[in-house]
Amino acid sequence: MLPRRKTRKITLGDDRHTRVSIGGDAPVAVQSMTSGYTYEIDSCVAEINKLAAAGADVVRIAVPERKDTEALPEILRQVNIPIVADVHFHFKRALEAIEAGIHKIRLNPGNISNKNQVAQVIDACKERSIPIRIGVNEGSIIERKDKQQRMKELGGVFSNNSHGHLLAIMIAKLEEYLDIFYERDFYDIAISAKSPDPTLVIEAYTEISKRFDHPLHLGVTHAGPRETAMIRSCVPLGHLLAAGIGDTVRISYASNPVYEVEDALEMLYCLELRERKGVDLIACPTCGRIQVDLYTLVQDVRKKLAEEIKLPIKVAVMGCIVNGPGEAEGADVAIFAGDRRGIIYVQGERVANVPEEAILDSLLAECQAFEQRVNAGEASLGQKNVEILPPDPIGELGSGFDKIAAGNVDSLTSLTVDKQ
Ligand code: SF4
Repeated sequence: MLPRRKTRKITLGDDRHTRVSIGGDAPVAVQSMTSGYTYEIDSCVAEINKLAAAGADVVRIAVPERKDTEALPEILRQVNIPIVADVHFHFKRALEAIEAGIHKIRLNPGNISNKNQVAQVIDACKERSIPIRIGVNEGSIIERKDKQQRMKELGGVFSNNSHGHLLAIMIAKLEEYLDIFYERDFYDIAISAKSPDPTLVIEAYTEISKRFDHPLHLGVTHAGPRETAMIRSCVPLGHLLAAGIGDTVRISYASNPVYEVEDALEMLYCLELRERKGVDLIACPTCGRIQVDLYTLVQDVRKKLAEEIKLPIKVAVMGCIVNGPGEAEGADVAIFAGDRRGIIYVQGERVANVPEEAILDSLLAECQAFEQRVNAGEASLGQKNVEILPPDPIGELGSGFDKIAAGNVDSLTSLTVDKQ
């Protein structure tokens, strides 16, 4: 992990909504966007509140029409996190959103380019200390009329780069647009340069981070369904964040946006860029040694502990003791499965030996008891020196590796675990 790049800081929010800083020394903020119509106030508010409950720091909403900006005062009255108005095509929507008390404006140089109109938005934001994100997404600039000329003039700057011409257009467009802001002495700016192409995302943000000190809003746009978009997004965003680049992230899925928030947070937790909330779960992938339905168990444990446990307790769910004790070392709570039973450890101390059907409840009870002890100051999380002395696989876990060695694996074949 490289140290985070130093940027200016912008702050969103007001006395009635959480204040969230982006850039500077602030933690990387998580954003998402509502998927319904903004003018449908009740469903818009419900969606914002769901995203906030999932951990979103900021939520963006589209305001394509007057009826959307008219809904803003009531929406803002009913939510308590900062809201960004996504403005395309008509600068008046930005002015109306500012008037309604919005916390940030997103402008697209590709479709609001009239200098006088941009200046009006900048001045209105300046008067109310509202930051602006400039989004030079690939899709919004690629249709520029002078694209061919630009490519010829500036492509050479990035001639060694596989996306040279696109990078040149993105950066030139950004520079031109930023000049309008700088002329008006406005610096409360975040920048994004999204594309559906993960390698272009890495290159664009890397180049932009060398040239400007504004906080960067990372994202892969139009990434697709969650199943593939998770990798498409987290690979380039993780790469950039590990290189110290990026101050806020939005993962985009063609799916429920709550997943965007959950996955963005998990990515930041993995990179230790945000303090984990809730359980840190690791689990073995299973192999031919497995003697419980571990896939079902892991899913049940994940759901149950997400609902019941608030502290970032490290929990390990291991299918056997072959690699389990080593990999679970340092786990606060660990379970090693054997022949349809499991042995549970809390910080290295063996606390229970239960049949498969009781594993979930017992694990939850041990996590709750441990959480209470931590909250009471009687235990602390993440003791790195926890050593787990493995249980006896034959006597205690009934696994009988001797049975496996002898070819007696009938008990294994009766399992109907779906490994897809
Ligand atoms: S912990 Fe045991 S069951 Fe799980 S993958 Fe490792 S060896 Fe296989």
